[in-house]
Amino acid sequence: MMLDTFSRPLKDLRISVTDRCNFRCLYCMPKEVFGPDYVYLARGEMLTYEEITRFTRLLVNLGITKVRITGGEPLLRKDINHLIEMLALIPELDLTLTTNGALLTNEKSVALKAAGLKRITISLDSLNYDIFASLNDVEFSVDKVINGINNAASAGLNPIKINMVVMRSVNLSSVVPMAQYFRESGHILRFIEYMDVGDSNGWRLDEVVPSSEIVELIGAQLPVEPIAPNYPGEVASRWRYTDGSGEIGLISSVSQPFCGDCSRLRLSARGELFTCLFASSGYDVRSLLRSNASDETIVDAVASLWRSRDDRYSELRSKQSQQVSRVEMSYIGG
Ligand code: SAM
Ligand code: SF4
Ligand code: SF4
Repeated sequence: MMLDTFSRPLKDLRISVTDRCNFRCLYCMPKEVFGPDYVYLARGEMLTYEEITRFTRLLVNLGITKVRITGGEPLLRKDINHLIEMLALIPELDLTLTTNGALLTNEKSVALKAAGLKRITISLDSLNYDIFASLNDVEFSVDKVINGINNAASAGLNPIKINMVVMRSVNLSSVVPMAQYFRESGHILRFIEYMDVGDSNGWRLDEVVPSSEIVELIGAQLPVEPIAPNYPGEVASRWRYTDGSGEIGLISSVSQPFCGDCSRLRLSARGELFTCLFASSGYDVRSLLRSNASDETIVDAVASLWRSRDDRYSELRSKQSQQVSRVEMSYIGG
């Protein structure tokens, strides 16, 4: 097992396949920054599916067991099913994808499942039309995302996780209705603390709703109790409704940072490796992949990057100066 400087093994790879998105979520790609003049990656700048697959295979040799496809909005990338098919051929890989659900038609869901996708995570921040429209900032309707969730469920991409980012002044009132709605669905609703990723979202600590407050809010209506993690180091803490009607997850990146167990490496669409979500620069793997470097050279480069890793941004958050520029979530992948 390969360990970093804090003895953390490398286990997960997040692959961002595009920096583009059809939403402009306030907390991720605010319109003022990601407007009509914003320059996205050109096609040739992005890793090809062959390059991504080769790299992933090599990382499996270094201990990766889980891959999540993300973005930007991954379903915007052309023929994404094809990448899933290629990655699904790698044995022993837990393959998942995170999407905003906008393009999850019935056909797409069936095709993703047939390509070998095991599970899916769909983001939805409110059931209230106005609140959701103001959060995605492109007037996208709740119904279409709910349709996407239903399509994914019918296609067998279960259990589905639903990600909800909570901003105090925007969608706190949506917490309990979301819990009620998904309670008996078999889907796992996960509340994510609003994070200070990137430089664009104008993050403020007073917009963060700590997980403890969410548990209190829900518990006052629907009694819940904590349950054991599925595996050591699971990022979300788990709670279940005492009446047996399901479970929720809480991702407390701000109030209870989990850097001590962080086993994730992130690959940007452009082929840079980031050892932390809050990194300001990445390691250029694309050049290696495009320079006829041997498998051994690439593996050695990643191994030495991981062995020297000392990131723990969230644990140090309050002590950190905000001066350094950080990479955007839509670029690096959530
Ligand atoms: N576009 C896809 C989606 O929204 O599901 C995948 C990419 S998105 C960057 C991945 C996840 O990151 C989403 O669940 C999103 O809600 C979450 N996210 C984005 N910005 C965030 C922030 N500032 N704080 C916490 N979570 C964030
Ligand atoms: Fe797009 Fe996902 Fe970011 Fe929203 S969170 S802007 S859907 S990449
Ligand atoms: Fe991992 Fe960095 Fe997040 Fe800490 S701040 S959990 S090291 S990605």
